[in-house]
Amino acid sequence: MTVSETGSASLDIATEDERIAGLVDLVTVADSTTETIPVEAPFDGERIGAIPACGEADVELAVERAREAQRSWAERDIAEREEVLSRFQDLVLDRRKELLDIIQLETGKARRTAFEEVQVVALTAGYYSHRGERFLGREKRKGVMPVLTDVEVNHVPVGVAGLISPWNYPFELALSDALPALLAGNAVVIKPAEQTSFIALKGKQLLEEAGLPADLFQIVTGTGPDIGPTLTETVDYVGFTGSTATGRIVAEQAGRNLKKCSLELGGKNPALVFPDADLDRTVEGMVQGAFSNTGQLCIAIERCYVHEDIFDEFVDRFVAATEELELGATYDFKPGVGSLVSEEQLEKVTAHVEDAKASGATVHVGGEARPDLGPYFFEPTVLTDVDLDMDLCCEETFGPVVSIYPFSTTEEAVEEANDTDYGLNASVWTSDTEFGRDVARRIRAGTVNVNEAYGATYASIDAPMGGMKDSGIGRRHGKEGLLKYTESQNVAVQKGQGMAPPDGVPFWLYAKLTSGALRLFDKVPGLR
Ligand code: ADP
Repeated sequence: MTVSETGSASLDIATEDERIAGLVDLVTVADSTTETIPVEAPFDGERIGAIPACGEADVELAVERAREAQRSWAERDIAEREEVLSRFQDLVLDRRKELLDIIQLETGKARRTAFEEVQVVALTAGYYSHRGERFLGREKRKGVMPVLTDVEVNHVPVGVAGLISPWNYPFELALSDALPALLAGNAVVIKPAEQTSFIALKGKQLLEEAGLPADLFQIVTGTGPDIGPTLTETVDYVGFTGSTATGRIVAEQAGRNLKKCSLELGGKNPALVFPDADLDRTVEGMVQGAFSNTGQLCIAIERCYVHEDIFDEFVDRFVAATEELELGATYDFKPGVGSLVSEEQLEKVTAHVEDAKASGATVHVGGEARPDLGPYFFEPTVLTDVDLDMDLCCEETFGPVVSIYPFSTTEEAVEEANDTDYGLNASVWTSDTEFGRDVARRIRAGTVNVNEAYGATYASIDAPMGGMKDSGIGRRHGKEGLLKYTESQNVAVQKGQGMAPPDGVPFWLYAKLTSGALRLFDKVPGLR
């Protein structure tokens, strides 16, 4: 990697790494925008390029171009739009090496985790490419007056969807939410996280190669507080993924502007381990579920509740498996755990662990930064004796840190799992799957996995995914994740007699006959 030290940034010099060369030209910028934001590789802290610091004028330009392009896109057959997604899936799989390089370069994550992103984007593209007509096609619904009222429902695109995406899964969370929006006939304007814009730009390049019309998919780069408000004001739908704190700001802006929105926010996800769980499988699944993406995953396990009968054995095995994890800053599939994304993230994780240590928590493994591996590496860390006055007990850490707590009854475990403002993801580990299902149904979380940490629900994209409580509003994936980008339009044709009483019929008689008809409709199955 070559790094050129340039004091005065201009857009032309913003492509220092060959893996991202040229991508910056795909950002929508008005002539007046010259400021840039440097981007670094978390593996070594070296500068890899710079992105335009877009402002209001850029967002307005992007939305205007997107709106113009959307009109003819919405008129195309659904099958044509499906074909673009299908070709995009092929391109993502064919170019996976290049995609993995860029994801790792910007995030510092392990290549295995980067592959999860590629997998889910390909899965999402493939899934929706076969369901456009089925989910978006015109529907017949029951009219109020049998035979006389003919009702159809149309799923009309909202127009321009504005998506604000985070740095932790930057390819997946930018693209997987954009694909259903595009399929539904919308244009998309994305504001990626400033640390990870290049992979979103790569996605735009591939979508256009797959046949997406120019201008339909716009990207504006820069900081959230600078761009967010204009984006929210000018688009028709706001989709946000990120922290609960920023989500509240975005939701307030969307509310003030009466914009539809969905928000996928933070989590403090519990795992419940019952005494009959297969411990080999449980420990393996939970270690992966806690430390994947170095714990920077909104659905990662952060709290483990383990039955007291197996508590000591579980802790020993979980610690031993954590010790086996390989950390490393390499562009291959060897290390399972990569770096944290930034100095800010390292500080937050360190602060949680130091606070817990100072207040009497026991660190069984990890607990330290690893500057010998890279500037933001932090060891996978397992703690016990964590209590309520420690920050990491209830606040989202978003790092490679888990706490293990004992429980004695199922009621207690469920109560502990639900004792949080969050409600994103949870897992239940038991050999009795019916019991597991039963416990899962009692947990207030949008996704609950039995004998898996998060993959079973997240990758089953036919089913909706999202948060309860402070973990969000709305859902991605499945039919729900597509129809949210549409307005349901009810068109009814009234034939013959209208809704008013027929001429010459006194209202008392009309009221009597209508009441009788309502009773009849309710009793006859075919008329209900
Ligand atoms: P983090 O704090 O981990 O960076 P955020 O939730 O703040 O996570 O960031 C998620 C996305 O939200 C990023 O693209 C970020 O730039 C954007 N963002 C941050 N602040 C705002 C804001 N005030 N309005 C809109 N978007 C924002």
